[in-house]
Amino acid sequence: MLLPRFVFALLFSTTAACAADGPVVVTVESTLNTGSGQIRQFAFDGDDTTYFRSDRIPTEADHFTLVLDAPVVVKSIAVVTGKPDGVERLEAGTLEVSDDGKTFHPLATFTDGRVTAVPNRGEVRAIRIKPSAGSTHPLTIREVSIESNPTLARFRYPIEFAVDVSDAPEMKEWADKAARLCERWYPRINEEFKSEGFKPRHHVSMALKTSYKGVAEAGGSRITGSVKFFKDHPRDFGAMIHETCHIVQNYQSRGNPGWLVEGVADYFRFFIFEPGNLGRINPDPHYNDSYRTTAAFLAYATGKYDIGLVPKLNALMREGKYTPETFKALTGKTLPELDAEWRSTLGK
Ligand SMILES: [Zn+2]
Repeated sequence: MLLPRFVFALLFSTTAACAADGPVVVTVESTLNTGSGQIRQFAFDGDDTTYFRSDRIPTEADHFTLVLDAPVVVKSIAVVTGKPDGVERLEAGTLEVSDDGKTFHPLATFTDGRVTAVPNRGEVRAIRIKPSAGSTHPLTIREVSIESNPTLARFRYPIEFAVDVSDAPEMKEWADKAARLCERWYPRINEEFKSEGFKPRHHVSMALKTSYKGVAEAGGSRITGSVKFFKDHPRDFGAMIHETCHIVQNYQSRGNPGWLVEGVADYFRFFIFEPGNLGRINPDPHYNDSYRTTAAFLAYATGKYDIGLVPKLNALMREGKYTPETFKALTGKTLPELDAEWRSTLGK
């Protein structure tokens, strides 16, 4: 086995950190698609200058639902609809709650595009906005505010992945699952890769292509994946998490070494997203072997020298300030010195 023992220690501590109690995670489910870039998560981001807007006029069969990972006791719910300038308020609709995520009960009706309510039904698992018949414009939700115990995690990094499976419609279920997973991990990726002044994207397109011969790649706000690869490897969601890391890395500088760009993405994948799945690294590994081998090297240097090493490397690469001397500045050791140290720990 090539992995040093401390890597496993790091894996376990990372897992424990992720399992710690915190605000309850929320996902949005809706029959309505996003129009003009006004994504769903803008309705629950704590910012009332942003809003969700559907791509069509809703009917009474439509809904916009916040689904909670765990039940909470809700003290109050307030919903404001319409754009910040007041137009496109919901003319008529109902606020509903559910204690199992399946059966919903009406709680209050909208007046002037607003509703405020205090549920008395105990624990809540989902909160739903249902337009009544007769809407004349798209559903526009400016902000949902919920006071609860425990609290809910608002979308700190609002994101929406739009899926394109026109090449392989039979992959829709897989692609939707991958997209929701990447959206769910987007805040954690952005926390790891945050830097002064950086503004993350709100929209990513994820297309599966039959003509694409690699595994997956990312550029700008677009991820392209191979239909064949993901048909053959349906559990390889980590490859899409890796591409989502590239979207967030968003390096513009050409001076960043490719092995480190890939190593940083695989570090997130194998040491934060799916710890324990690293598998075998190169048999005669060096720090610049890229991908998972570099990820293992970064995990070594992180554990030994600086728990914040990868976030710092990311910030420097994003600012175009990475140089071969960067490792010495951050750890006190040059890359060849770190490499020799790391290699001496392997296989023990
Ligand atoms: Zn990559």
